[in-house]
Amino acid sequence: MTENEIVMESSIAGNTTITNKTKKRHINIPVFMPHLGCPCMCVFCNQRTISGKQCFDERSVPDIIEAALATAGDAECEIAFFGGSFTGIDRSLMIRLLEVGYKYVVDGRVTSLRCSTRPDYIDDEVMDILTKYGVKTVELGIQSMSDRVLASSRRGHTSEDTRRACAIIRAHGVTLGGQMMIGLPGSTIADEEETARAICSLGCAEARIYPTIVFAGTKLADMTAAGEYTPLSVDEAAYRTARVMRILDDDGVKILRVGLCESENLHTGEYIAGPNHPAIGEIAASILYYEDICSAIDSEIAGGADVAGRCAIIYVSDGAQSKAAGQRGKNKMMLAERYGLRDVKIKGGAKLSPGKRVSVELV
Ligand code: SF4
Repeated sequence: MTENEIVMESSIAGNTTITNKTKKRHINIPVFMPHLGCPCMCVFCNQRTISGKQCFDERSVPDIIEAALATAGDAECEIAFFGGSFTGIDRSLMIRLLEVGYKYVVDGRVTSLRCSTRPDYIDDEVMDILTKYGVKTVELGIQSMSDRVLASSRRGHTSEDTRRACAIIRAHGVTLGGQMMIGLPGSTIADEEETARAICSLGCAEARIYPTIVFAGTKLADMTAAGEYTPLSVDEAAYRTARVMRILDDDGVKILRVGLCESENLHTGEYIAGPNHPAIGEIAASILYYEDICSAIDSEIAGGADVAGRCAIIYVSDGAQSKAAGQRGKNKMMLAERYGLRDVKIKGGAKLSPGKRVSVELV
């Protein structure tokens, strides 16, 4: 899994993105292969727990794809081979799966294929195979660029493996996605910010961010029980995720997902501890909105404005109102208290310059 792949397995709904009202919906059709091709060493990983599947039957793949296409409407679809490490599975099985997926590309029923894998399972030969069968995106389970954190997490590869893999993927003209984790054993905010910067500099176009969850049956569960690992709270994980999101956002890296999908849900006996919250990405984003609103108001104050007792109108783009307001209006309340504002109003539909989240008017 997380290769987080584990963590990563997503439902169709969880992978749906609507970039704007004129573009078609994009749907990933996940074909999940728990533990195939995986050395199963990572302390946080119990793919069977996350996927809820105990085995993989390749004969079911066309049915999985057909079932997803039947409900996809006019959405643009992509087949996503997730789980384990796709390029580490038995080579003949990998090619058979690619052949199944590629037929849908040739027939025009899906646009392309994507897969997730480990950095140490990428080389020129495997990329030649992937590109031959229509793979347009490879998601790499980077997790951390700190060799200390990678070792503590028993990932079995180094940051240098990641650098090399990213270069190879890009040299083959394939879109690169980076998956990273928050709160791995020994990881600090600085480590996570460094990983996010590396995701940008290594040429990732998209990213997924996974706060670390403790599942039953993992080494991390043992470490937690022994007091060797302390899971992050939801608030800590959201704050650290926000730090990473700002770096990725500023560089134009598209964030596909934060945290697990609800469908993977952890309301089972397998979840032990950690920041499992269905809206953790929204909470992290609302932190960024709060920071940016404060910066805008501070600029007004620096320019001589007296804000106490006034109403702040916060302009955001459509769809961002709830992030700007915060969970249950938390941002609005904190802003009113911090600046002595009479009222805080959030208005959507703003046309903001690229990279700008908010503009503020004081009335
Ligand atoms: S590489 Fe690690 S995280 Fe990925 S599936 Fe294997 S054990 Fe799990």
